[in-house]
Amino acid sequence: MKLTFLGAAKCVTGSCYMIETNDNKNRFLIDCGMFQGSKEIKELNYADFAFNPADIDFVILTHAHIDHSGLIPKLFKKGFKGKVICTSGTVELCQVMLPDSGYIQETECERKNKKYLRRGQKMIEPIYTAADAYNCLKYFQRVDYDTMIEMTENIKFRFRNAGHILGAALVELYIKENNELIKIVFSGDLGNKDQPIVKDPHQIETTDYLVLESTYGNKVHGIRDLQKKREQLCDVINYAYKKGGNIIVPAFAVERTQDLLVDLNILIKNKEIPIFPIYIDSPLAISATEIFQRHHQYFHNQVSEYNKNGEFALLFDNLKFTKSAEESQELNKVSGGIMIISASGMCDAGRIKHHLKHNLWRENATVLITGYQAEGTLGRRLIEGEKIVRIHGDSVMVKAEIIKLEGFSGHIDNPGILEWLSSLKKKPIKTFIIHGEEDQQLGLEKSIKENFGFDTYIPALREMVNLTNAEVKGLDSEKYKRLRANITEEYFAQYKAIKQNLKELMKLRLNQNQVSELYDDLKTLEKVSRKFLVK
Ligand SMILES: [Zn+2]
Repeated sequence: MKLTFLGAAKCVTGSCYMIETNDNKNRFLIDCGMFQGSKEIKELNYADFAFNPADIDFVILTHAHIDHSGLIPKLFKKGFKGKVICTSGTVELCQVMLPDSGYIQETECERKNKKYLRRGQKMIEPIYTAADAYNCLKYFQRVDYDTMIEMTENIKFRFRNAGHILGAALVELYIKENNELIKIVFSGDLGNKDQPIVKDPHQIETTDYLVLESTYGNKVHGIRDLQKKREQLCDVINYAYKKGGNIIVPAFAVERTQDLLVDLNILIKNKEIPIFPIYIDSPLAISATEIFQRHHQYFHNQVSEYNKNGEFALLFDNLKFTKSAEESQELNKVSGGIMIISASGMCDAGRIKHHLKHNLWRENATVLITGYQAEGTLGRRLIEGEKIVRIHGDSVMVKAEIIKLEGFSGHIDNPGILEWLSSLKKKPIKTFIIHGEEDQQLGLEKSIKENFGFDTYIPALREMVNLTNAEVKGLDSEKYKRLRANITEEYFAQYKAIKQNLKELMKLRLNQNQVSELYDDLKTLEKVSRKFLVK
């Protein structure tokens, strides 16, 4: 079969992998995510798919994050007619996240078109609308974790818990070809162990091929222990509260916000932080919190216990939800003493931008960064210490204190990945490292080689590999490099000799025929080497 890396290859976002069986009968996707981050990266969302959506049989969706699910409405809009298969948590989160993403596309497009109109340029259409997103949701099919799903006689798969966020899964995929059963594991996004809500990721024992995420492949989270993370949060809140300003927390609407709520609830109940107004100012985070309340079955024991006692782990008295835009704008008038948890987590869209605009210039304000900040985002610029940032076309001085909380990441770190891999009883034929920036991928590759001696490969965007073809099974980059070096070395040695001979020849008195004969010889040589490669 063929595996093509259509996103999150040498970058973090846009997860999308296509599997095509060798008999050409089946073609399906693992995830169909949106590219996020810099303007250049986001442009990729407007490009045509690298395949005909009508030819795709189904989509296996690992989790609801937009960089994994965000182009599914576009896929339907362009002719896809199959099912999207995912866990129940993922379906429900997609029911709010995809229409929200559609709405963001519409507003972004409207803003761009105003600019294009002024410049007399061609107008664009949104990638998809909220209505497109609602329309495709009826094709989502819920399946349970740990249950084998037979898609065809020769293709089956099973979701396993991946930690990370509610409903997130890794995929154990089995494909039978030429009487050979091949197993491929897609890690999806793997979470850290010991999270406030979700369970630890499932560990696998065998696979022929592994497609492994590397978001934090070269990092070690400062704090790994849940209790220590809570203590850190406690210290930072007490410190920031004493300064008198507002505490602004950009947080991913799904999972990070709810994790924070569990932590805050525990700190308040233990009287470790003062009781002051805490606002969840993100319609998406509010809807997601409601979904979490319906899915206790995914929670690990400690939180489930909480719920059994009748005190819900995510709710407390001084927690307020601001749904309407008016309520959100009221918060802009408050100069201190409140905490606002708002999305987007990377500060590049949504209500958080307003709160940053109204608080970044205040010396007594604090911004708590709780998660990954992609290259090119406002959040990344803040942690890199920029003194003036632009928000909604205005320049804003950064006088607030920016504090990055350690260990509050939805992604597993380097020691975590190595521990996760340690359950494998035998080396995979090939481990593809995806979903990471270059330094993270290279760092992870190095430690995997050092610790386990796995054969690893970092695929490029749109690169295709053949998983049954012996040549690619042995897609041996070291061997390739050595042979290529031999060829080029010999070629240059011979080229020098040929050049010397030509020089000597040119010193002779040649007629026109002899010159064109030499020219033909050189042409033939070029043709022969080209022909060889095309073969
Ligand atoms: Zn994710």
